[in-house]
Amino acid sequence: MSKTTVEVNGNGLESLGKEFKIKFYDADGNFTDTGFVGYSDNSSHRSRRASLRPGKATSTDSCDHVRGVPSELRSSSVMKPHGIAIFYQKYTEAYGIPILSSWNVNDDALKRACYITRFLFADNYAVRNSFYQRSGRSAVIGVHEGTTSIPEHSHMDPSFWDKRARGLGATDSAPVSTGGEENLLCMKNDRYHSEDIYLHEFSHGVANLGARYGISGWFRRLESQYNTAKQQGLWANTYSMSSSAEYFAEGVQSFFNVNDYSATPNGIHGPINTKEKLSTYDPALYQLIEEVWPCHNTYLKRCVVSRAQEQQQNIRTNCDGSTGGGDGGGSCKDIHPNCHSWATTGECSRNPAYMLVNCKHSCNTCSGQGVVALHVQTAVSSVMIGLEGENVIETQVT
Ligand SMILES: [Zn+2]
Repeated sequence: MSKTTVEVNGNGLESLGKEFKIKFYDADGNFTDTGFVGYSDNSSHRSRRASLRPGKATSTDSCDHVRGVPSELRSSSVMKPHGIAIFYQKYTEAYGIPILSSWNVNDDALKRACYITRFLFADNYAVRNSFYQRSGRSAVIGVHEGTTSIPEHSHMDPSFWDKRARGLGATDSAPVSTGGEENLLCMKNDRYHSEDIYLHEFSHGVANLGARYGISGWFRRLESQYNTAKQQGLWANTYSMSSSAEYFAEGVQSFFNVNDYSATPNGIHGPINTKEKLSTYDPALYQLIEEVWPCHNTYLKRCVVSRAQEQQQNIRTNCDGSTGGGDGGGSCKDIHPNCHSWATTGECSRNPAYMLVNCKHSCNTCSGQGVVALHVQTAVSSVMIGLEGENVIETQVT
């Protein structure tokens, strides 16, 4: 039997909603895990192991097709805990993970949110499937809607939250990651224009519902590394040191080269804003992020690509070596870490004797490889123009 103690998660509130963070200890008093329960309603004694959605994550997507919400998802026996609310009238999906919004949102915003979903859950089947089975989903907040317009967050105080945040990360009790339409579509009136808020918020969901359950000991190691980094004075005077959740989410932004930059830490951002800098500045955090995203796919930035370009990107999948629900099999692996870069320069056809044996995944030679891996490779380098260097004075609240 385990015993629990409860602590209010102060600085991380924005990512947790109105929730308590609970630490679990074993019989000897050793910290074992972290969980979350609701705060403002009376259902705060939920089981940490939420009941699961039936079925498994798929290996396909239909991001280019926005339509109505499938009726079965309205059921609480399918999507936990309460089914998909009637507020949601638009739907698309990646791996069976719903992307939702009201009527008020432009289809392109859902397509972009779907791309982010497809991208973030490509690499690791266990993470993807865990998010799926915990009824994880993504919802777009319309540009004229508020954070608390989202039904799962409607119990929160609008006078506070609608001003403070334009997105929240998924949790066990409210398994939806949200973000603003204006951020997804790179609108000029976005107060977080220089940041990819959706990626940040979604990475909270990936951690809370995906990696925490899908990768053995990962959440505990993240907490431990956060404490170590703090003791070492890393990330001083930045938002990363708010909590282990923000440490991870800010790290993810840097890992995918979409973080903001400040030459001197300004309380929010600092100079470590790229994958390369992250790998040398905080290699332990880099490694934790790499466990979730071992494929090293290139993230397409929202302000410089079209939705069609996103759809065409060849995103490598299941680099964790899993079967990924039948898209390649356990032997469908790259043996050498340079396989991907070799494949992108034409080595699969130039040197097939080696490549087709040792770089099966990168050369797409796996039988039954998933649909997401079969998108036509497109030259993305020309559109990878960074947003770094733009000035942001706004206080980051996500
Ligand atoms: Zn955050």
